[in-house]
Parts: sequence; structure tokens; C-alpha cells
Amino acid sequence: MSAAPFKTRFAPSPTGLLHLGNVRTALFNFLLARRHGGLFLLRLEDTDAMRGHEKYAEALQADLRWLGLTWDEGPGAAGSAAPYAQSERGEIYRRYFSALEEQRLAYPCFCSEHELAVARKTALAAGRPPRYSGRCRNLDSWAVQEKFAAGTPATLRFRVPEGATVNFEDGVRGPQQFATDDIGDFVIRRSDGTPAFFFCNAVDDALMGVTLVVRGEDHLTNTPRQVLLLQALKLPIPAYAHIALVVGADGAPLSKRTGSKSVEELRVAGFLPAAINNYLARLGHTYEETHYLDMASLARSFAAERLHRAPAHYDEMHLRHWQHQAVLHASNEELWQWMGETVHALVPNEARAGFVDAVRGNLIFPADARHWAAILFSDELVPGHASQEVITAAGMEFFDAARRALEKDGTDFKQMSTSVKHMLSISGKALFQPLRAALTGELDGPEMAKLLPLIGVERARARLMKYGTTKNSF
Ligand code: GLU
Repeated sequence: MSAAPFKTRFAPSPTGLLHLGNVRTALFNFLLARRHGGLFLLRLEDTDAMRGHEKYAEALQADLRWLGLTWDEGPGAAGSAAPYAQSERGEIYRRYFSALEEQRLAYPCFCSEHELAVARKTALAAGRPPRYSGRCRNLDSWAVQEKFAAGTPATLRFRVPEGATVNFEDGVRGPQQFATDDIGDFVIRRSDGTPAFFFCNAVDDALMGVTLVVRGEDHLTNTPRQVLLLQALKLPIPAYAHIALVVGADGAPLSKRTGSKSVEELRVAGFLPAAINNYLARLGHTYEETHYLDMASLARSFAAERLHRAPAHYDEMHLRHWQHQAVLHASNEELWQWMGETVHALVPNEARAGFVDAVRGNLIFPADARHWAAILFSDELVPGHASQEVITAAGMEFFDAARRALEKDGTDFKQMSTSVKHMLSISGKALFQPLRAALTGELDGPEMAKLLPLIGVERARARLMKYGTTKNSF
């Protein structure tokens, strides 16, 4: 038999929009699959009777596609382990529940929520771990039949073997050891018949041929339970790697409350997928390369050994850094689409390529493109206060000379500014700042040599004339 292909997965519960924290888990799994020439699987963990999960399931798939995290197996893709939504896998789970029941590896538990809560409290008060007492573990079949006959709701509990240890090697945190006596029998089927997370998550990983589970370290203590379940079911056990959580500036796990943004919010704000991917791939993982990497390179250099154990600190400034890089590396067409309708309406067709090329280095968000498009292509230009001061200080003769140079040299900025330099015997800041201030209303920005041809002779003339001695004709 040939070895199982390397396969990772992302298994979100569609209870809300994807946030940076969970999308990072998806990215790590995706990159590892690509790195090892394996497969990346998407599974929807939608077993709870939760409201709106279809909407969120759609949204998370759209987010993943937008980021380029396409799955080889999962909803809407190929794969022989379909269906990939847990809500459609009830029949499969029932088979495995029966297998466990038949071997007495699972038993019905009739303890009510209230009884369990009281038991937990009592255990905690006595300084004992709040694990299940085992009250229903050894009910005889007569007692069980009687409870069922009386219609008492029952969960199904997995019978955790006594006095054993569970060992596994965690890809990030190293060797792990858990005593089964600390675990306590746990619920694998709720009283409404739906499978519990521990169960369907583990069974699906096995049946779907997942070989490596990369997930948040909040799941670390779930793993021994899942290993026990898979051992009992004689199903293959994947390798596990539990990654440190992402924390905010306050050191607490990143949450909506602490400013974690959804992928949707970031997209609407104008972040590019490559910015998010470059940032997240470095959040809790070290690359030797400190420069921008495309997806293939992000995957090529991704290494599970370089995942950090310490919590990863989210820093919006870093995300902005990668956004700048992503803008620099985007294709002209991608950037043009990203700039949006206002820019499309302002920039003439023939100026499109020149505009994108000129302003690319000065953009973080589409609003910056709108800003430059308005400067270059609208007739109204109101210089800011600092620019106005520079213009006033340069004096009217400066702008008369500048206009003469424009008439002679046209929009060749190098020549035009050299002409002004010779006419007035000035150079450096005194030459370039007033030109930039009058022509763009700004003191900084893209290269003037690229901007002036876009502004064009007529608009440039009007802008220079405004500050010279001759307002109307020359
Ligand atoms: N549905 C679980 C979650 O979103 C999956 C955990 C796992 O990756 O195993 O937390």
C-alpha cells in the first residue's frame, strides 16, 4: 500500500466571519500542503444547530478564495471523502457511535445539566479536577432500559480507559503526555443526537485522510481525548501541531473586542490579499527572507520547525508595511481594479498605465489613489497650508520663469526644471519645492518627471499662472 498523501486541513465552525486569528490557521495549513506537494482540505464544522451558518459558510469560502487559499478537497472541490460539511455526515457518525456502543466503549449518560453543574462545583470546591464522576459509567442494562423507557434524555459518553497515558509528539510544542485518569469520560453525542466536537472532528480527520492537523493551542488538551477515540475506533491518528495564539497589544487573545478585524473588513478597507498573506505567514513563524514573497515563495520557505511557541503579537503597523509592499508588487491590472470607480472615472484611458506607474510607490489604500487622481486630473487644486507658504516664499517671478520653461520644454520635467534653474540661478529645494507645490498642491509625492506628463501642459500652465505676475496671457 502506498503511503497516504500529505494532507492538511482547515476546519472552521461557520459561526461568524473569518478573523485574522483563524485565517492564519488556514494559511499555515495551506502553505504546509503546498510546501510538501500535498493536499489542503476544507471542512465545515457546522454540527451545532446554529443560526445563519449557511451565510457564514459562504462568506468564509469567499474569503479564502479571495486570499488565494484554494482547497483541493472540500465543498465545491474534488475529493473522495465527501460530504465535507459535518451537517451532512450524520449517517457516518451514527455508524461509529454504534461501533463504540457495541463494544461498550461508550455508554448512555442520564445526568442532567443541573446535576453535572453541581458535581463540577463540588469537585472544584474540594480542589479536585472538575471531571465527570463516572456516575452513569456502570449502570446495568436494566437501569438503562428503565431510564430510556421513562424518556430520560441521554448523552453518549466515551469510556476513557483507566490508568493509562496518552503520548503524542506535537509539531510545535514537542512531546506531550496526559494521564487518562485526569480526563474523565466525555460526551461524544449530545442528548439531541448531534455529535460533539471531539468526536466528529477526530473521526473526520481520520476518514478524510488528514495527516497533519495544525490548529490553535486552545485545542491542545482536546488532543489526548481525540487520540483515545481514534485508537478505540482503530482509525489512523494524524500528526498534530498546536500553534500559539495571536494576541493583541494587551497580551489577551485577539478578539473582535480588541480590534481584530475580519477578512471582510480588511478587504473593504483596501488591504490586498498578498499583504495579509505576507503578514500572517510571519505572525508566529519566522522566514529567513525579510522581503515580500509571492504565494509560491511563501509556501516554499514555510517550515513547521520555525513556528513559535510564544504567543504572536498582532501589530497593525506591520500589516501596513506589507500592504505597501503588496501594492509595489501588484500587477498594473490588479492595482487598477483595486483603485476603484472614482479613480476609473477621473483617469483618462490613455493615462491609465502612466498613472498606475507614477503613483504606485505612494499608495497604501485606494483612497491614496483617489487623492492623486484628483490632483492630477481635476482642474481645481487647492494647495495645503505648507505648500501655500512655499509658493508665497518663491515669489511671482519664480512662477513666471516656470511658465516660460513650460512653454519651451513642455512636460519634460527634467528639461523644464533645468531651464528654471538657469533662468533664476537656483537649485535644490528652492527650485523643486515651489514647482511641486504649485503643480500638485503637495510638498511630497511621486516623481515629478512622471507626474507632469499626466498633468499635461494646459493644466500645468493654469496652475503656474495662478502664482505668476501675468494672470491671463503671457
Ligand atoms: N471547528 C473547530 C474550530 O473552529 C476546529 C478545530 C480544529 O482545527 O480541530 O475551532
